[in-house]
Amino acid sequence: MLATKLVDNAYDVALENFDAAADALGLDNDTREMIKYPERVLTVSVPVRMDDGTIKRFQGYRVQHSTARGPAKGGIRFHPQVTLDEVKALATWMTWKCAVVNIPFGGGKGGVTCDPKHMSQHELEHMTRRYTSAILPLIGPQQDIPAPDVYTNPQTMAWIMDTYSMTKGYTIPGVVTGKPISLGGSLGRNEATGRGVFYTIECACEHLGIPLKGATIAVQGFGNAGSVAAQLLHEAGAKVVAVSDSAGAIYNKDGLDIPELIHMKTIAGHVHGFPGSEPIDPAALLAFKCDILVPAALENAVTAENASSVSARIIAEAANGPLTPAADRILESKGAFIIPDILCNAGGVTVSYFEWVQDEQHLFWEAQDVYNRLEKVMKTSFRDVLKIHLDRVVPMRIAANVLGIGRVAEAIHIRGIYP
Ligand code: NAD
Repeated sequence: MLATKLVDNAYDVALENFDAAADALGLDNDTREMIKYPERVLTVSVPVRMDDGTIKRFQGYRVQHSTARGPAKGGIRFHPQVTLDEVKALATWMTWKCAVVNIPFGGGKGGVTCDPKHMSQHELEHMTRRYTSAILPLIGPQQDIPAPDVYTNPQTMAWIMDTYSMTKGYTIPGVVTGKPISLGGSLGRNEATGRGVFYTIECACEHLGIPLKGATIAVQGFGNAGSVAAQLLHEAGAKVVAVSDSAGAIYNKDGLDIPELIHMKTIAGHVHGFPGSEPIDPAALLAFKCDILVPAALENAVTAENASSVSARIIAEAANGPLTPAADRILESKGAFIIPDILCNAGGVTVSYFEWVQDEQHLFWEAQDVYNRLEKVMKTSFRDVLKIHLDRVVPMRIAANVLGIGRVAEAIHIRGIYP
């Protein structure tokens, strides 16, 4: 289990990151007040009749942090540790993330506190549909567009789309992204986050003069984001030497066979016991001697307690908020190059944007077209952030926040205050 929640409240981290970037930007107090806090926060009660006939009530949330630059956009998380503060933090990061990659969306996030690993498909479907009907006043293709996050997937999105469409009386695919292809999903969406992580790692290696071929890599969290990033890094000739999921961690000093590992994880649901690997302590994975560390699980994986043991030269934040501010400072002082979450994992929301555009136009693109457009967005955004990092001599995280917050502040200024 991660050291989450016991250390830093994710929302406090989001606010601290905001203040640091606002200081670097020289943002005035009025603008800070207007863009720092969520625009709307909804807490909902989600009763579900479970398979054994009993009724269980789940707590759900949807937060719209900002709609200054367009509809709110952000995933829905099903996890036992979901709290309102976590959802507020994730919504805040979505605002800056969409602005960093310059797509016309604001930031939102949703979640239900539940343990999907111990729920049947039937229970999950009923919980998803009831949660959707509870947040219905907020969502819509021009208002707020959910997507998958931890322990939600294309099937979850299909249930949300169906529930929303049934209520409105006609089919509205653009209300969610990350849908199955057969329902208006985009080719390349499922692997978009990991692919975006890969492109930013390529850029970082080029900047630092580290050859990706032969580079050693450790990946914490072998889910959607982590496994796709691992696969592309493996294909590029890097050696993914250590991998973990919530049930354990494994290593092979010569590099794990990632396609085979993905195959096993799909069938068995875990990475431990993979042939040719040795088990390691999951906590030790973060300190594993490697060139690139990819935290791709949850928040607060690296804290003041374990940051000094991290030896990777590049830290690519596939997860949202995997480093606490204290960990950031320690790693910066050690000379680590951090690709911050709002840049590193922005590939997911970028292809979500492409999906929404395709749904709105009823015209669908080929996979290669999606990859080419994604690569362009990710590499342009990396260069934009790197320029601020070098010109202003600020950490990469502050540079990314300066870019994102600056764009939102500009939108707010031009729009003015209603009424
Ligand atoms: P996922 O549910 O597909 O995978 C999460 C993985 O993390 C699972 O393999 C799980 O076993 C593992 N995990 C959970 N707790 C762990 C622990 N303590 N130690 C090691 N592994 C652990 O989720 P995902 O979509 O890949 O999301 C992972 C992270 O990436 C989250 O922070 C999410 O917010 C972020 N993210 C995802 C997307 C996306 O499009 N999926 C986009 C942007 C950011």
